[in-house]
Amino acid sequence: MQATQPNSVPPTSILMPANADVFWLSLQEKLRKKIPAQVFSVFFKDLSAKIIEEKLTITCPNVEVFRHVEKQYKSLIIDEAQTLGFNGEITVECNKKTSLGQSTVKNKTLSAAVRSETAFPNRINLNPGYTFDRFIKGPSNEHAYAAASGAAQKPNDYHNPLYIYGGVGLGKTHLMMAIGNFVQQSYPWLKVKYCPSEIFQSDLIEAMKDKNLSYFRTQYRSVDVFLLDDVQFISKNADFTQEEIFHTFNYFYQNKKQIVISADRPPQALPQLHDRLQSRFQQGLIVDVKAPNFETRMAILRTKAQEAELQVSPDVIKYLASRFTSQVRPMEAALSILQFTANHEKRPIDLQMAKMALKALPQENGIHQVTIEDILRVVSRTLHVDEALIVGPNRTEHVALARHVSMYLAKSLIKGATLSFIAGAFGKRDHTTVLHADQKIRDLIDTDTALQMQIDEMLEELKF
Ligand code: ADP
Ligand code: MG
Repeated sequence: MQATQPNSVPPTSILMPANADVFWLSLQEKLRKKIPAQVFSVFFKDLSAKIIEEKLTITCPNVEVFRHVEKQYKSLIIDEAQTLGFNGEITVECNKKTSLGQSTVKNKTLSAAVRSETAFPNRINLNPGYTFDRFIKGPSNEHAYAAASGAAQKPNDYHNPLYIYGGVGLGKTHLMMAIGNFVQQSYPWLKVKYCPSEIFQSDLIEAMKDKNLSYFRTQYRSVDVFLLDDVQFISKNADFTQEEIFHTFNYFYQNKKQIVISADRPPQALPQLHDRLQSRFQQGLIVDVKAPNFETRMAILRTKAQEAELQVSPDVIKYLASRFTSQVRPMEAALSILQFTANHEKRPIDLQMAKMALKALPQENGIHQVTIEDILRVVSRTLHVDEALIVGPNRTEHVALARHVSMYLAKSLIKGATLSFIAGAFGKRDHTTVLHADQKIRDLIDTDTALQMQIDEMLEELKF
């Protein structure tokens, strides 16, 4: 009996010459949906195809088109042909007759289309290190992470438009570029453009100077995923920029193309934005990134140290996580200094070395802001009382003690916090509760050496 050929074409394949035209039309339609319109009209409109003996041959009118289609789109063509049930061989060739003469595509249009595909997306490269894998999740950013990864997996779907906001250095650009990197990897036929809003503005100004607005628009709209970073930098007076962002936004929204916007605040808190732009930005999914909590900071530091192949002991990681509380970038800077020190001293970093090496580094924003959350974590661990009990109504002696210690620490460490604020954080209405707790702990410290030592230890950890 004859063995079946492993590569034989399944019976669903469209191989009949009579069907070739229909098949090619269907394939073109599929490709049209995946490729920017301008690019499609330049590169795909004039292709022809035939199927002979299970082989699809696509013929390009000239060498430029051939090179481009072969290099950029062959794998997309194969994939799309397979979704139509065609598993045979596919070749792209150049029509020798037409290619010898004049190019059928006007050179100017051709180069414009090539530019529209490459020039802008390459202008600011996506940082390849900003991926979802390398983004550490925690309660402060998990919603933003989930929304960004949803938008990346299904661009143009239900996470569109996506608006990410949060303070400096909390991972907005990282998440945006992670979307870009993911899309480029998973859907190579989709064009991604990452653009800080200042660049959008300066491109627009240039285009206006050159009286080339339509070219600008074609460039910006020929992409499928548009990532517009830091819109808080658009000034109130930049009417034209705001107008153009508004139209660009509408274009993406109406054409069901993915748009992701970032800013340092939610849209309604950006007074410099014109009302209609604010309301457009509010149409989508709005997520925020907050400062990472202690555990997330520890995880970020551990990961970054590992990535840098830097050996640091757990107490150094803990020290760094306590010292750098509001942004990720200073943590990265600190790790670089430690790496330099380790190389210089030719030994792994210990806590003593770390403290010395980072002595000159300013405290974040000049102050180290302790939070109630930090205090609860430290008290809970040192006095072995659950955080939820500390903030709850439980009056058991050791729980009440932990609560009083927490209030005492909050009063002495949280700069600018009012007594009512601290009382509120522990579910109390009356600010005098904090005063009583404070006095009680002061008295206890005088007589209870063990408690005094524990409190010193907690102060030391919180004050780094
Ligand atoms: P933003 O755009 O919000 O100002 P960035 O995205 O530029 O912040 O982040 C600053 C630095 O911190 C980058 O190097 C980024 O990789 C890193 N970073 C921020 N958040 C995280 C996180 N959750 N996990 C890993 N790295 C992070
Ligand atoms: Mg940024």
